[in-house]
Amino acid sequence: MVESFPLPGGLRRFVVHTGEPMVRPTADMLAELIGGRIGSRVDPTSNSMLSAFVTRRRLAERMVVGRVILIGDSAHEISPIGGQGMNLGWLDAAELAPLLTGAVGRDRIDRKALDDFEVRRMRVAKRAARQAEANMAMGRPAGSIRRATRDAGFGLVLATPAKRLLARSYSMTWS
Ligand SMILES: Cc1cc2nc3c(=O)[nH]c(=O)nc-3n(C[C@H](O)[C@H](O)[C@H](O)COP(=O)(O)OP(=O)(O)OC[C@H]3O[C@@H](n4cnc5c(N)ncnc54)[C@H](O)[C@@H]3O)c2cc1C
Repeated sequence: MVESFPLPGGLRRFVVHTGEPMVRPTADMLAELIGGRIGSRVDPTSNSMLSAFVTRRRLAERMVVGRVILIGDSAHEISPIGGQGMNLGWLDAAELAPLLTGAVGRDRIDRKALDDFEVRRMRVAKRAARQAEANMAMGRPAGSIRRATRDAGFGLVLATPAKRLLARSYSMTWS
């Protein structure tokens, strides 16, 4: 599998599935894999960033225990396919900040608000994880019928106002 994402400034990001994580990937290895799989020649000297990663889905049992509060990937790790893990962490922080600043100067934090925070953020993390898994499922290699159905479905959505729903889902305005 090779994924290719156009970026601003004429750049392109490639993601190549290797089956198991590469310990020390190099731009030459990446260019070779891309060339071997899809026949595209990519100049390894133009590479500006390289990393190897695995996809994982993990959710902490609790985000709040006593004085300890987990946010970000320590609380919920989701597949980067669809790119929402960092958004989730920032949104945790944005919701948590007023609770912490509200406690400054008092001798206690609003426990009920903190409990609600945990319930809400875990619910959002679960939904984002499900969405990331759906993205992964859509990106997996598929037979010709499944691929044609998937592509036609996407083409239809993108040609109608329903594309706004898709954009809303990807930009996580629901969270
Ligand atoms: C390939 C890839 C692409 C991604 N693309 C996107 C994207 O487009 N959009 C998006 O929203 N998300 C994306 N993500 C997810 C995003 O990178 C993470 O969700 C985000 O970085 C999590 O931030 P964090 O601060 O919670 O954790 P981290 O970024 O993991 O930061 C934790 C930090 O703590 C440090 N640390 C660990 N243990 C200790 C210790 N004991 N003492 C001190 N320091 C410690 C670590 O070194 C690390 O620097 C992507 C992830 C990957 C792998």
